[in-house]
Amino acid sequence: MTELLIKNTTLVQIREPNISILKGNNFQTLPILENAWIHCQNDRILDYGTMENCPDVRGQVIDATGRYVFPSWCDSHTHLVFAAYREQEFVQRISGMSYAEIAASGGGILNSARRLRAMPEAELFQAAHQRLKQLIASGTGAIEIKSGYGLSAAGELKMLRVIKRLKAVSPIPVKASFLGAHALPAEFKEDRKGYMDLLINELLPVIVEEELADYVDIFCEKGFFSVAEAERMMEAGNKYELRAKIHTNQFNSMGGIEAAIAHKALSVDHLEVVNEAEISALINANVIPTLLPSAPFFLSDHYPPARQLIDAGLPVTLASDFNPGTSPSGKMAFVVALACIKMKMLPDEAINAATLNGAAAMELEKDYGSITKGKIANLFITKPMPSVAYIPYGFTEEIVDRIVINGQLSAKELV
Ligand SMILES: [Zn+2]
Repeated sequence: MTELLIKNTTLVQIREPNISILKGNNFQTLPILENAWIHCQNDRILDYGTMENCPDVRGQVIDATGRYVFPSWCDSHTHLVFAAYREQEFVQRISGMSYAEIAASGGGILNSARRLRAMPEAELFQAAHQRLKQLIASGTGAIEIKSGYGLSAAGELKMLRVIKRLKAVSPIPVKASFLGAHALPAEFKEDRKGYMDLLINELLPVIVEEELADYVDIFCEKGFFSVAEAERMMEAGNKYELRAKIHTNQFNSMGGIEAAIAHKALSVDHLEVVNEAEISALINANVIPTLLPSAPFFLSDHYPPARQLIDAGLPVTLASDFNPGTSPSGKMAFVVALACIKMKMLPDEAINAATLNGAAAMELEKDYGSITKGKIANLFITKPMPSVAYIPYGFTEEIVDRIVINGQLSAKELV
């Protein structure tokens, strides 16, 4: 049995076990406990309290005076597996080319697909594993990873098998989403239906058989996939009990949100462009709105109307969208900073959105996302800092000092 006691600290995001997703008043408050201790036994949080009742624990004891203990970030939307960064396109964009022009000239997602298809599975795994370790060291304690750079039967299966290998070796939970419908591959330019048939009739049964995905996804957007195609993908997923997490409303509002609600999707992600009718529809639905502010930051585009969504009482969630084209960073502390600086979310709200709500957007809220007795002890200890608001305020600072994964204190470089 391993025992870990962290004492003289401030605990952040303390919740009772019955709180599974945060909206309304719960979203606007972030419960903290000052002058506190937390006791982890084996991989779980056993108990916590204030220093007057600090237990005598035989095991590792950490004095965290001046520091805060957070539940790890829960990043519910990433494209962590890819073959290469795309910094040349970044330079092209600075020089005046648009994302659409770059995509039309063979860049963008199709560029990533070309490189991914050429890379052996072992190398792809190594590169993604390295990135995953870096994210864990930066405080991420649960993550979702999408396919979508294969865009062929072999390429998509290769990616999903890499994600499955990551699941097997990762000390944090990994959820996999099948995003074969990320972009239309050049070979199917004149045969959209043929590509959808390939994904749904040929690939999906193999994916289910090999247990390669937890969710289905599709990029529902002008120039990518239509609402009808999104509906078809979500229906196909539902047949296999794979819920949908879809990309929608990044550049246009075209009905993706309503379709996601009708098909009982788990989350709708992006929402840079969202109208009042869509917000009202979400109020009565059980679909989690997930915002990815790193993408509009990197593209110098406009941000989702976070305040409107919050004021409507929705359980807003934040994720990194880590990908080589539009968000080459998976740092959740920076996502929290962007949410505050660019979307006027209060620090408490942004932290709620990046922890417990992120866990809910991966159906991991029973075990992750808050400091709750009985949950898995995935935590980070900050450097000394004056208050919780210092995290988004000190937006370039590496605030995570030490991490606890499955109740074990890790030196960050040893992850
Ligand atoms: Zn994405």
